[in-house]
Amino acid sequence: MSDLAHNLDSVHRRIERAAQSAGRDPATIALLAVSKTFPADAVREAHAAGQRAFGENYVQESIAKIETLADLRAELEWHFIGPLQSNKTKPVAQHFDWVHSVDRLKIAQRLAEQRPDGLPPLNVCLQVNISGEDTKSGVAPAEVPSVAREIAALPKLRLRGLMSIPEPADDAEAQRAPHRALRELFERLRAEGLELDTLSMGMSSDLEAAVLEGATIVRVGTAIFGARQYAQ
Ligand SMILES: *Cc1c(COP(=O)(O)O)cnc(C)c1O
Repeated sequence: MSDLAHNLDSVHRRIERAAQSAGRDPATIALLAVSKTFPADAVREAHAAGQRAFGENYVQESIAKIETLADLRAELEWHFIGPLQSNKTKPVAQHFDWVHSVDRLKIAQRLAEQRPDGLPPLNVCLQVNISGEDTKSGVAPAEVPSVAREIAALPKLRLRGLMSIPEPADDAEAQRAPHRALRELFERLRAEGLELDTLSMGMSSDLEAAVLEGATIVRVGTAIFGARQYAQ
């Protein structure tokens, strides 16, 4: 088994163990393999090992990768998870299946306008600034209900749920607290009638905490592909 196939296997086991301790069916938790900074060949190898959903953060890099992997397009699901400027929404609306990082209404409006006819609705998550840091993007929790309702009403988009990138924490309880807060917000929106099914939370270092709090998609990069190297 290649290193990558082995890593994928270990991540699946981590998800299964966490699901078991939470009394959840592991099949209700999807693994998004975050392939940012890794070449198209790494995606191809992960696909050969059974992985289907891939997460990308940078517009130019991801579009090049999607085009290189055009032969696999029907078998892959591409998720945009990085910060998105409003002048860069068009290629994302044209090439991706999901966007997790919608952090203001204007971005959602542009994605809706630019989603080509003939493609299925673009699945979107609203990114929430759950730890309340000034520097992190995301909608403030208090504003989430009104922004979510406006996004849910847009054509060509399907609002699936909420996403967050909490501040890193070491101990288990500190990791769970922001995930719990996101789940509570999610449950409130559902109780108010929004048809949401997705909680995108948890990464390499805190996926267990996220699964224990109800994550339906965990976004894992390092534990699958190894450490990222950024060009200088
Ligand atoms: C890079 C990234 C991840 C993956 O992080 P790892 O710690 O490498 O698992 C997940 N989500 C987002 C939004 C990211 O930017």
